Amino acid sequence: MLCNNCGGNLIEITGNLSFDDDIIGRYEITNAHYSKCEQCGEKLLPEATWEKADLEEAKTLEKMITSLPVSEFISATEAAKNLGISRQAIHKHNRIRKGFIYSIKLGGKLFYHRKSTLLFKETGDGRFPLVKKTKQEPKYSIYHRISALPYLEDFNHFFDNIKTLDKSTYGNEIHVRDGADYGCN
Ligand SMILES: [Zn+2]
Repeated sequence: MLCNNCGGNLIEITGNLSFDDDIIGRYEITNAHYSKCEQCGEKLLPEATWEKADLEEAKTLEKMITSLPVSEFISATEAAKNLGISRQAIHKHNRIRKGFIYSIKLGGKLFYHRKSTLLFKETGDGRFPLVKKTKQEPKYSIYHRISALPYLEDFNHFFDNIKTLDKSTYGNEIHVRDGADYGCN
């Protein structure tokens, strides 16, 4: 078989494959069969491998939903009230049954995630990312305790000199952003 993309040779591989998903992030399947183009690296996955990936995705999703704090889940009655539909309607609703509202089963009863329910009411899709985005730029908010600075006998005078400095107070602690120009003159 030849690659659809470039016409290169496809080789059969059994190995690990990882997938990226907006909701659950990266997940991996092991011992997956697939073909890889020797030339461009394009991967072709047979149906069985897709099914394996789907299963892993569903398992990972379920694990993540059940890891959410129980206190964030509400009863079917309350969820139905939030949605303005009956309890029966919530159980029969196709999209809700398909997981468009995150739910867990406790003692044989379904409980719905509050935020997911509200999101569903608003947009028709109550799913939201359960994994923190790793592609985002790290936020540099490094704060140093002002008490660690050497010359702070005159606090007010110090702050007069650093009016432009990004500073904030948390309780009794004063934090100053690291690396700023202190302008000590
Ligand atoms: Zn190719």
